[in-house]
Parts: sequence; structure tokens; C-alpha cells
Amino acid sequence: MPGIVIVGAGFGGIGMGIALKKAGYHDFVILDKAGDLGGTWRDNQYPGCACDVPSPLYSYSFELNPDWSHLFAPQQEIWDYLRNCARKYRLDEHVRYGTAVERMDWDDRARRWNVETVQDGELRNIRARAVVSAAGALHLPSYPDIPGAGRFGGTVFHSARWDRSCDLTGRRVAVIGTGASAIQFVPEAAKQAAHLTVFQRTPPWIHPRPDVEIPGRLRAAFRKAPLTARALRDVIYLALEARAVGFTINPKLMAPLEALGRTHLKSQVTDPALRARLTPDYTIGCKRILLSSDYYPALQRPNVSLVTDDITGISETGVTTADGTDHLADVIVYATGFKVIESVTSLNVAGRDGRKLAPENLEAYRGVTVAGFPNLFLLLGPNTGQGHTSAVFMIESQIQHVLSCLRILARDKADTIEVSEAAQRRYNDALQRRLRRAVWSEGGCDSWYLDAAGVNRTLWPGFTFEYWARTRRARRADYAVTGS
Ligand SMILES: Cc1cc2nc3c(=O)[nH]c(=O)nc-3n(C[C@H](O)[C@H](O)[C@H](O)COP(=O)(O)OP(=O)(O)OC[C@H]3O[C@@H](n4cnc5c(N)ncnc54)[C@H](O)[C@@H]3O)c2cc1C
Repeated sequence: MPGIVIVGAGFGGIGMGIALKKAGYHDFVILDKAGDLGGTWRDNQYPGCACDVPSPLYSYSFELNPDWSHLFAPQQEIWDYLRNCARKYRLDEHVRYGTAVERMDWDDRARRWNVETVQDGELRNIRARAVVSAAGALHLPSYPDIPGAGRFGGTVFHSARWDRSCDLTGRRVAVIGTGASAIQFVPEAAKQAAHLTVFQRTPPWIHPRPDVEIPGRLRAAFRKAPLTARALRDVIYLALEARAVGFTINPKLMAPLEALGRTHLKSQVTDPALRARLTPDYTIGCKRILLSSDYYPALQRPNVSLVTDDITGISETGVTTADGTDHLADVIVYATGFKVIESVTSLNVAGRDGRKLAPENLEAYRGVTVAGFPNLFLLLGPNTGQGHTSAVFMIESQIQHVLSCLRILARDKADTIEVSEAAQRRYNDALQRRLRRAVWSEGGCDSWYLDAAGVNRTLWPGFTFEYWARTRRARRADYAVTGS
């Protein structure tokens, strides 16, 4: 019986495994339903896929990589980086691939989690003292409910499950969605397709993407003098954190960011009619601000068209819009994002007295622990996403919180640690008060940040250093510890 089960082998699970090893815990397993580690960076293999936070920051603080080829590393490099980290810290012996967690039940009498898995079609049960869910928030592709979708006679796939056997050369391609993934692959796909039709519901705010190749000499300097790499990381961190002023203090302070978005659009799109269709009608930051210097130019290629009429259906031959046009296509690519709330609920977690982690009241204390769910820890849990900097920073803060809870258990020679209802309530009431004034609620947009009732259960409304300071040590008074 392993002491700790970690679900997921992406940035979260690998980071947690390394931290446990460093802290002297060796009794853990990492379960992943896929056949390899990497999470997001294993699944998203569309052309042009890269991070949109500079790589010196979008990486572990304890494992700086001097060898990034670009400021915004491409997918393959990030995936390789994660694999190298796992190899360096010998995590391979802890990971069980092809093992999907189907449900988790807390056994209060035995003070253990029963983790039900499916491996090679067989149901198996693993008992563990503690569970860390690092199952990610963006791994279940979301498909819109479009009438007739099943009738399409061509090739269909989601951007997060890119069909690499499908050659786009000379084909008519329809792209549904204009979010973070679409703006990365549209410029690449447009180079191959005979015709590319981009279906836009809401235009995103886009800033220029200051990507550069990192010259060999600079990489050598990072290798020789790691402090230079750390200094660059710190500078990037502070620069991105400055962008959060508008998110966190007052949406009016978003004005300079909005001005940059407008200038970028104006400088790249000369046709006023097209520019009008690409101009968002909501406050910048209400949805994720995207980075691209080649998306607008791609839309103006002669073989690309932008359609802003509502999609009413999918026929055997293409995508139909409200004006009655059937836009012919050989391939449809859904760039329609992920099921965020379901990513937690799909684990079917039942805590004390059979309580469920349900979407309509999904909340956690500091995004990590949940009352009624002893010895369960969430990485990138509710209200820990952010729109301006690296998710890995948040993950590392949460890992420190988990270690702090484990230290309390060890020090008190206890069996269980569980956040109190009162602490969770206080924390979430304050959080939701702050969120009500934030740009995500006030900015006039509809986004996946808000649930069906308009409650923001995804984002952290402050600076990330505040989150780090609040999570790094578990407050003993906020937790009930039993079985001492
Ligand atoms: C295209 C794309 C680009 C992104 N770019 C950035 C960026 O530039 N900066 C940034 O900060 N963030 C970015 N993100 C967000 C990104 O998801 C996080 O930064 C980070 O990779 C999340 O890591 P994770 O380990 O929490 O989750 P994931 O990487 O999603 O890993 C979760 C793992 O859990 C496994 N799993 C899930 N459910 C189960 C189950 N039931 N049983 C077993 N295993 C399971 C999955 O197979 C997966 O391997 C991006 C996301 C996408 C989709």
C-alpha cells in the first residue's frame, strides 16, 4: 500500500513527486491514464504549440533550464524538459502509466483513501494514506453542441488531440474557435491549407508576442553562471506581475493594456471593416489576453476567411452559418477549449459521509484542501488559475502547502489532516468578495472562468506573491488533526 497517491504526471504530479523525494518521502506512486508523462505538453501537439509565458519562468524554480531555444519554448521542448526532470529525480520507478483513476472514496474507519483505477481494462483498488490530485484543469477537450455534428463526412478532431496523420496540404479546413490554441495553429495551418475558414464567436484581445531565439552565447552564459538565468527569471516574473495591477486592484488600470491591444490590431490590420470584426467589445483581461504576432497577418492571407456569423449546424460537407451559407470543408478542427469544472468532478471523489466534490459548490481552502475530504490535496484546484503569469508558480506554492500539511501529520504523529469548515468559509467569502469587483465579472464578457451561475471558481484575484505567502505554510489553527 503506497503512502501517497498522486493523480497525474504533468507539471503538477512531476513537481509533487520531486518535492516528496527531496523531503524524504519515497512511499508514493504517480498514476496517469496516458502512456507517457507530460500532461498538457504531451497532449497538445498542434502545429505552432508553445507556451505563452516566457520559458525561463514557465519551468520549475529549482530546475532552471539554460537551454531553451526560444523565449517561448515550443511544445516538444517543454515536454522534453519535463521528461528530463522526471529522469533526473528518478521518478520513473514511481509512475504507473495507463492507469486511469475512476473514483476515490474516503474510508473513515480505516482512515485511508480507496482509489479505484482501471488498468488494461481491469478494475483495481489502491489504498493510500493521502491523495494529491494533479489531474490538471485543461485536459478534457470540450466540444460545442452543434446540430448535425455527427453527419460531417470529412475529418474532425480537437486541437488538443491533433490528428498528425491528417495532412492539411491542399485541403479546405474549418477552424471553430479563436482562443489561445487557435491563434497559435491558424498561422501554421494557413500555410498548408488550400483554404482556411476561421469561425469566430468572440474576438480575443491580442498583444504582440515578443518571441526571440535565445542565442547560443547567452545559453552558454546561463549554463556557466546560473545566477544570470535566475536573474532573467526574476525580471520576467516582476514584469508579468506588474500586468496584474489591473486584474487585482482596479479594472480601470487595464487601460494601457487595452491601448497596446488596439495599437497592435491597428498596425497589423489595415482594412477598417476587418478591424471592426476583430475588435473585442469587452474590457481587456475579462478573457485571457493572447499573444501573437502572426495571427492577424494569417487572417489576411488570400486563402483565409474569417466568419463571424453564428454557426447554426454542421452538414455532410461543411459548416452552416445563420445567413444560410454552407462553408465547404474537408477537415473541421475544434479549437473550443476544455471542460474545466468536470476535470475535478470526473475523478468522482467521495469524502467523509459520502460528500461529493460537486461543480455547483466547488471550492477549497487556499485552492488546495477541502473540508470533509481529509488527506486530500488539489493542485491547480478551485480559484488558483491566473491570466497573467506561470501556472507552475502556483503549482509550486501549492506543493509547499501540501508538504507543510504532511509535516504537521508527521510532527503530531497523526493520521488525518482536514481543513475546518469555518476556515474554508472565511477564505472563500473573502475571495468571492474580491472577485465580484474584478474584471472577469465586471468586464462584460462570457468566459470559461465563470460557472453556469456566474460564480468565478477558477481564478485567483491577486498577485501571485500574495498567494505564495498565504500557501507556503499551513496554519495549524485552520486544520483539524486526528489520530494522534
Ligand atoms: C495548449 C496549452 C498551452 C498552455 N500554455 C500555458 C502557458 O504558457 N503558461 C501557463 O502558465 N499555463 C499554460 N497552460 C496551462 C497548463 O495546463 C498548465 O500550465 C500546466 O501544464 C498544468 O499542469 P498539470 O500537471 O496541473 O495538468 P496537466 O498538464 O493537464 O496534467 C494532468 C495529468 O493528469 C492525467 N490525468 C487526468 N485525469 C486522470 C485520471 N482520472 N486518472 C489518471 N490520470 C489522469 C492526465 O493524463 C495528465 O497527464 C497551457 C495549457 C494548454 C492546454
